[in-house]
Amino acid sequence: MADCVFCAIAAGELPADIVHSDDRVVAFRDLNPQAPLHVLVIPRLHRANAAELAATDPALVGDMVTAAHAVATGDGRAESGYRLIFNTGADAGQTVFHAHLHLLAGGRVGLTL
Ligand code: 5GP
Ligand code: ZN
Repeated sequence: MADCVFCAIAAGELPADIVHSDDRVVAFRDLNPQAPLHVLVIPRLHRANAAELAATDPALVGDMVTAAHAVATGDGRAESGYRLIFNTGADAGQTVFHAHLHLLAGGRVGLTL
């Protein structure tokens, strides 16, 4: 999709610190990390959020989780634990409207609510 920063990263048109890439998903380090490991996993397919992605291709949401687990495993974080987040909409703080899964690990990344 034109003017989408994450489509540009997936296409290799915008630089990113890519940690995983395959024909379905791309994972790269967040520009403004909130934890020692903070990676965004995106589908190559442009959809505005996780629900719209699930409505089109539910297996792709599973592929994102699988990729996140692989990145966490590669970083030695799978045993100690990690957090996965989909922000959807303004109240959740979504700022990029190309579906993305936040992978957070290192330190205390669990919900404190
Ligand atoms: P959201 O708040 O929409 O769930 O998260 C968007 C995330 O994308 C933010 O954590 C932000 O730091 C990250 N981000 C926004 N633009 C870029 C970019 O151009 N490159 C990278 N690597 N991360 C970005
Ligand atoms: Zn996009």
